[in-house]
Amino acid sequence: MAKRVKIWQCGKCAFFKRTSDVESVGECHRYPPKVASKRGEDRKMLADVFPKVSEDNFCGEYQNKDFYKTFLES
Ligand code: SF4
Repeated sequence: MAKRVKIWQCGKCAFFKRTSDVESVGECHRYPPKVASKRGEDRKMLADVFPKVSEDNFCGEYQNKDFYKTFLES
């Protein structure tokens, strides 16, 4: 039986930035951050946010980070 291998994964993408040492989550930096309101201690504040993604997820904008490493090192 053929073994399924995940090729596209946020965790292997050039645009993925890990944000936790404990969970398998990070931010997608493919596009600029969006401005969103967020609740501070006593009032709403504006913050720039990147989409949160799981390292097992993927999208059609995936770019293998190893490709960029090879390109930059040559
Ligand atoms: S959402 Fe798409 S572009 Fe963003 S890190 Fe995941 S695969 Fe890469």
